[in-house]
Amino acid sequence: MNNFAALNLIDPLTQALAEVEYAQMTPVQAAALPAILAGRDVLVQAQTGSGKTAAFALGLLSKLDATQVRLQGLVLCPTRELADQVSREIRRLARFIPNVKVLTLCGGVPLRPHLASLAHEPHIVVGTPGRLLELIELTALPLKALTVLVLDEADRMLDRGFAPAIAQLMEHLPQPRQTLMFSATIPPAIRAISRGLQRAALDVTLNVESEDALIEQLFFEVEPAQKLAAVTALLLSYRPESAVVFCNTRQVVRSVADELMARQFSVLILHGELDQREREEMLVRFANRSASVLVASDVAARGLDIVDLPMVINFDLAADPDTHLHRVGRTGRAGRRGLALSLCSAQESPRANLIKERLGVALRWGRVPALARANAPLLAPFITVAIDAGRQDKLRPGDLLGALTGAAGLPATAVGKIDVFPTRTYVAIARAWQQRAVAGLRAGKIKGRNFRVRELEA
Ligand code: AMP
Repeated sequence: MNNFAALNLIDPLTQALAEVEYAQMTPVQAAALPAILAGRDVLVQAQTGSGKTAAFALGLLSKLDATQVRLQGLVLCPTRELADQVSREIRRLARFIPNVKVLTLCGGVPLRPHLASLAHEPHIVVGTPGRLLELIELTALPLKALTVLVLDEADRMLDRGFAPAIAQLMEHLPQPRQTLMFSATIPPAIRAISRGLQRAALDVTLNVESEDALIEQLFFEVEPAQKLAAVTALLLSYRPESAVVFCNTRQVVRSVADELMARQFSVLILHGELDQREREEMLVRFANRSASVLVASDVAARGLDIVDLPMVINFDLAADPDTHLHRVGRTGRAGRRGLALSLCSAQESPRANLIKERLGVALRWGRVPALARANAPLLAPFITVAIDAGRQDKLRPGDLLGALTGAAGLPATAVGKIDVFPTRTYVAIARAWQQRAVAGLRAGKIKGRNFRVRELEA
C-alpha cells in the first residue's frame, strides 16, 4: 500500500500533502515512513529525487509540538543549496500547522545575523555542520529540547570534510532522541557514523536495480564541432515534452540557445547573469510548459525543481561526477522515468571515466541519429502572459480564470498554470488562444482595473 492514508498522519499534514499534490508515497517514503513515524532510527539509502526530504520532513513535523517554542528538530546538510531546498520542503509541508518556525543556518556568511535570528527560538534548524557547531560552541543553539536529528546526504557531508564537525556535534546532542540518516551510498564510514549516532537503526535499502532503472543514461561520442548538430538531432528524434540542456559556461549556453532558436524550438535560457526576477520568470515559464527546452549552466540551475522533467541533456560533460549526478538527478524524480543523454568529445573522455567509476557500471554508448530536417521543431503547447499585478493587488488565480473564460471567451482547457507573485502574475495560455486571450485581457478589466498585460514568447 503506497497510500499516505495508511500512515494515519495528523490532519494538517494530510491537508498539506493534498495541497502539494503528493498522491502516492514514493518507494523510499513507503519503505521508511512507517518506521520513522514509529519513532525508530533509520539509515536510508536514497538519492536526490527519491522523495527523501518529504520522508524526514513528515517525521519531524509529526513529532513536533509547535505550541512549545523550543528547538526540536535539527537537520544537517552538506551544502547551502540543499539546506535551502530542505527548508522549503519542510515549510511547504508545515503550512497548516500554525506558527512553525524553520531557520536555515549555513556557513560562508557572517555569524552575527544568525545569532540575532536565534533570539527567537525556532522549532527546526536546517544547516551545514560547521556553522551549527560554531553556534553550539557559542551556546547560541539551544539543544535541550531536541527530539529529532536528521543527517541528509551523509556521504556528501563526508566528501566535503565535515566528519570532524559531525563527530564534535555528537558530543553536544542530548539523548534520548530519534536520529534519521539519509545517504546515496552507504560506505563503511557512514556505517561508523550510524553506530555512533543511532540506536538499533533500521536499514532501508531499496532494490537498487529498480532505482537505477528509473533514470536511463546514454552517452554519445561527438566531436566539439558536431555538438550543436547532435543536440538538435537528439531533441528532434527523442522529442521529449520538455528537456534541460546543461552547458559548462555561459557562452556555450548562449550558442546552444541560439542554434535551437534558429530552428524554431521554444527555448528559454538560464544563466548566472539573470537577476532574481528574470530567473523566476524563466522558471515559471518552463514549469508552465511555455518552453520545451531550457538551456542552463550549473550555477543557474541551482534549486531547479521540476517534478515532470523527462529528459536531461549534457551538452558538455560536467567537470566532476558529483555535478554530473546532480544534473542527471533532475530527471526521473519522485518515481517517474527519466532519460539522461550526455555528449562526450574525445577530450572529455577522462571525465566519462570518472563518471563510470563513480557509478560502478559500464556506460552505455549510443549513436546520434541522423538529423532529420523534415521533423517539426519542438514547440511548447503554451505561451505565457504576464500581468503586472499580483497578490498585493489581491489578485487570485480565480480572477484570471474568470476573466479569460468569461469576457474573453476561452475554454477552460485553454488556460494552463496560473502563478501569482506579490506584484506579478503569469498565466499559461494554449498557443492557439494567445491572441484572443491577450486582446480579451487588454480590453476587459481584471478585478475592475486595467493592468499592463505582456506576452512572453519563447
Ligand atoms: P527529494 O528526493 O527530496 O529531492 O524529492 C524529489 C521531488 O519529489 C521533490 O520535488 C518533491 O517535491 C517530490 N516529491 C516528494 N514526495 C513526493 C510524492 N509522494 N509524490 C510526488 N512528488 C513527491
